[in-house]
Amino acid sequence: MVVSDRQAVLKIAVPVPQQRGEVLIYDYLAGPAIGAPVGSIVQIPLGTRHVWGLVMDASDTSQLAAEKLKPVVMLADVPPLDAQTLKFLKQVSRWTLAPFGSVMRLLLNTPEALLPPPEQPVFTLPEFPLADVRLTPQRQRVCDFLKMVPPLSATEIARETGVSSGVITAMHKSGLLDKQMAVRGNRAPTLSPEQLKQARKSFTLSDEQQQVADAIAAKGDEQFSVHLLDGVTGSGKTEVYFDSVARVATTGRQVLILLPEIALTRAWQDRFEKRFGFRPALWHSSVTNAKRRTLWRQVAEGQPLIVAGARSALFLPFSKLGLIIVDEEHDASYKQEDMTAYQARDMALLRAKISDIPILLASATPSLESWVNAGAARQDEAGHKDWHQHILSSRFGQASLPEVKLVDMRLSRPPRGHWLSPDLQEALKATLEAGQQSLLFLNRRGYAPVTLCSSCGHRLACHQCDSLLVTHRLAGRVQCHFCGISQPLSQQCPACEEADSLRAVGPGVERLEEEVRMLFPDAGIAILSSDTVRSASDAEAFFKAVETGETDIIIGTQMAAKGHDFPQLTLVGVVDADLGIGGGDLRAAERTYQLLWQVAGRSGRAKQKGRALIQTFQPTHPVLDALSKMHLDNPVAARDQFMQAEADARQAAAMPPFGRLAALILSSRDLSLLEAAAEGLAAACPAYHGVDVFGPAPAPLSRIRGAHRIRFLVRAEKTVALQKIITEWLDKVRLPGQVRVVCDIDPYSFL
Ligand code: ADP
Ligand code: ZN
Repeated sequence: MVVSDRQAVLKIAVPVPQQRGEVLIYDYLAGPAIGAPVGSIVQIPLGTRHVWGLVMDASDTSQLAAEKLKPVVMLADVPPLDAQTLKFLKQVSRWTLAPFGSVMRLLLNTPEALLPPPEQPVFTLPEFPLADVRLTPQRQRVCDFLKMVPPLSATEIARETGVSSGVITAMHKSGLLDKQMAVRGNRAPTLSPEQLKQARKSFTLSDEQQQVADAIAAKGDEQFSVHLLDGVTGSGKTEVYFDSVARVATTGRQVLILLPEIALTRAWQDRFEKRFGFRPALWHSSVTNAKRRTLWRQVAEGQPLIVAGARSALFLPFSKLGLIIVDEEHDASYKQEDMTAYQARDMALLRAKISDIPILLASATPSLESWVNAGAARQDEAGHKDWHQHILSSRFGQASLPEVKLVDMRLSRPPRGHWLSPDLQEALKATLEAGQQSLLFLNRRGYAPVTLCSSCGHRLACHQCDSLLVTHRLAGRVQCHFCGISQPLSQQCPACEEADSLRAVGPGVERLEEEVRMLFPDAGIAILSSDTVRSASDAEAFFKAVETGETDIIIGTQMAAKGHDFPQLTLVGVVDADLGIGGGDLRAAERTYQLLWQVAGRSGRAKQKGRALIQTFQPTHPVLDALSKMHLDNPVAARDQFMQAEADARQAAAMPPFGRLAALILSSRDLSLLEAAAEGLAAACPAYHGVDVFGPAPAPLSRIRGAHRIRFLVRAEKTVALQKIITEWLDKVRLPGQVRVVCDIDPYSFL
């Protein structure tokens, strides 16, 4: 039966977190969205709410069925998503096993952008100004100013001319100014091809850098290719990838640069601006709503933009994407670990593949995955056909890699309650005297990781997680690092109620600061951790103090390891290199190596030679042995030796990247329900060839926020369709509503 236009039905994906890896589609009458193509964003009624959905298909339906359907509320004021973006969303959902509805939400997370931008009143001089009016000096100033600028809002005019906005409204009332309505908003800078060509010409790369830049360019920008930009810290990877950015942007296409959030600081932006003459468009958690709204729309409209963003920028609605850069590609912050668990680097590869464009992965310490994929491992002599490895083996200019020395803590142990060996103290002193800067690295926030009652032995623990509370003296609180709850610091033991009995055990950065302050009372000391540097303005103040030399000694957590360029820094001290090595984590050794390499790499980045002292109780451990060879003639060869040993171990255990891994985490407040559910799931466990299931086992972190947790780990051969098996498995059992299950494909956390 043919239906009238009014009855045309649209198949619309709804933003509901149901149906693992699948698209949940409901029918709606097209209504105002009549004729809307696939990919259109529409507002629809769902239950009692109005939500944004995606048109997946149009179809006719019988009059009868159509009568029961609700109509679309409105069509979004943005172009439809293109086929590549839709395909990307679908494949992310299929890969991560997150419901399509959840993946959709990653893209539709800026609902303000979907409505026409709001208009606001702006003022100009009238076309025919009133003649012979005598103006007060203030009014005169406003008139003079408005002769030179486009229409502006009352606030803007007031700010620029130093009058109150009342003056402007009064001038409008008396006919001295015209009022119009206009769309305002700070639009991100779009590119002028001329500017970009200039930026490219005026910059000189070193010979080694130029060779790499040329090799990347030679592979072409018109099809999928992956470039692993593998260069020691300070070799100029940023300058090399800027070359590709300029080349692709000149053609009017969009460029996405992904960075770990902390690297989106002023220093990186300054370098960008120096090279290109304008600032990139930024996308991260502290960008204002107004800026998000405009940028989202600009991206959707296909405007030529260079966007620098944290992992969530991958889900912007790019319609003319020409290149993706993933800087610090090994960084663990690319892995998001909540309901929609995804690895942004891997999803960026997927996006590039779908869009058939090049992607650059930059790192001084590539992830084992990328290193193997690029063909650097013995296991994979040919490498993947689309992957290319480019090596920058020396630092730019006169800088050289720091000299690394291991400090054997078994031989040079500091007194109880102190953490700095005599060697490290000596080095700090010498560096201070030379007027240079030092960085002490300790990957532990707060004052002390453990607080113990000296009377009854009770340890302060979180009441809703299976974890100890961390003392934060600066904030005057004890805090759980898993659920975030905190309580005021007290000296009384909550168990035995003995007064003044609580003792701090072990060091955190705050406690280390105490020790350093005692040793060097006159030095400028600053802590760099997520507790002390929380906002963009904190970061600004911190980097300013380092730049001006006000800070002599930085005490930092892993935040200090990320890409910073401190030219005066010539000493790095790693306080406890053994912290990350233990534990059963698949990537423990790899990650410790990367972290310490990056930290050590902060030293000696400019003219002065740098050094790194690494305190450890296990100097013969392969990670430490490899680190101690950093400054040798061929640092890349030393690194590769370590990576090869890691690769061999992973291959022997059939672990990623040589096998596939997924975690299923069941959680519930009701322990007996949870245990029953886990048993049910275990009973339905698939017996496929090439698949091993470990568990159920209580998670190492057996309780978070009051919810008990049980884990399964699935390991499969590389050729196995892991997602399909897990979906089939989960489909076999009906879990009670109170039991939540999270799938984590290729997990990074094993807690
Ligand atoms: P990486 O990202 O590999 O750690 P960077 O790109 O940060 O290295 O470069 C290290 C330092 O060397 C920076 O201060 C950068 O400005 C400088 N530098 C690198 N290449 C050049 C170049 N071709 N010309 C001028 N300065 C450069
Ligand atoms: Zn807690």
